Amino acid sequence: MDISSLIQKNETKIIFIILDGVGGLPVNGKTELESAYKPNLDALAKSSACGLHIPVSYGITPGSGPGHFGVFGYDPLKYEIGRGVLEALGLDIELKKTDVALRCNYATLKDGLIIDRRAGRISTEKNIELTKRLSDEIKEIDGTEIILKSGKEHRFCLVIRFPENITEKEAMVTDTDPQKEGKPPLEPEPLNEESRKVAEVAKKFIERAKEILKNEEKANYVLLRGFSALPPIPSFEERYGLKACSIAVYPMYRGITRLLGMENIPVEGDIKEEVEMVKKAYKDYDFVFLHIKKIDSFGEDGNFEGKVKKIEEFDRFLPEILSLKPDTVVITGDHSTPSLLKAHSWHPVPLLINSPYVLGGLVNAFTERECFKGELGVIPATSIMPLVLANTLRLKKFGA
Ligand code: ZN
Repeated sequence: MDISSLIQKNETKIIFIILDGVGGLPVNGKTELESAYKPNLDALAKSSACGLHIPVSYGITPGSGPGHFGVFGYDPLKYEIGRGVLEALGLDIELKKTDVALRCNYATLKDGLIIDRRAGRISTEKNIELTKRLSDEIKEIDGTEIILKSGKEHRFCLVIRFPENITEKEAMVTDTDPQKEGKPPLEPEPLNEESRKVAEVAKKFIERAKEILKNEEKANYVLLRGFSALPPIPSFEERYGLKACSIAVYPMYRGITRLLGMENIPVEGDIKEEVEMVKKAYKDYDFVFLHIKKIDSFGEDGNFEGKVKKIEEFDRFLPEILSLKPDTVVITGDHSTPSLLKAHSWHPVPLLINSPYVLGGLVNAFTERECFKGELGVIPATSIMPLVLANTLRLKKFGA
């Protein structure tokens, strides 16, 4: 059922907080959430509807992109974001509907063969120098604008900006990376009639880059991957009738939320600065999204103590957020990142929804095991937004 047909607008306010990668696994019997001293989160959990959500599907470990799509109610299996688009978002490139985005590598070509797919992992400084040279010399191809941005080491992003809108089908072109050293690079092949023009521009870009880089010892060639255009996605406003903003420090999350039509509030720093921004933006929006990144970073480093400390730090700021008295507060993660695995994982993620219309009183703390006892049970991530809308009385009755 399309939920947008049930939407009724009102004056309620929602604060939606993602603690990136918050779910964990026990080390010496306790998870990161169970080890953290977080009286404010635990008190809130006691009076909230709690549960666990499954980000994409049973056993599926999501990237942060699909993880966020799921909790925002967009089925990650239906709304897939291309690799090139993700790369561009991560580098803070503001993509338009006229763009094809690609993730690229500098590589070493010798006698027609790729002998190093990463150009000996050149330094980021070298990358910046080369990318500037390419940018200065290749500004347009066949009437398209060429936009380049350096990533780390050998990686960079290419955006081909057409004068007209580009569909996902038109961006369907094959990668040129042969995946193995000692093989010739592949040609960018169009996968259908409509994607010919994109393939043509890509071919010309490779030729010109090769000419410009020919005297480089290592980075004398470029490999192109992940050709993709923006997928057609209904915005938060269209789908939920919510005027939404996002407060996130990392470019990728700003990019993902911009795809969903959330306004990006510029913020630098860490939790303190972000919470200040929540307080400033609060009055102007129905829905304020706050993204806390570093919890995931410590999990990925296998730094159990670091992850615990970051959860505790967030807890100290929670009262400031609650003092705004939003009608509904949601706290969850986009996926689990157990320090034990040093990686994202498939495990269900603790979830808390606080509103005047919940039972509450079922759990004693905001942890994996306590949330399991809550009234929400274990639910798909895509169920969270309908529940949030219901809890702010923004959903009409279904049927007579
Ligand atoms: Zn994440």
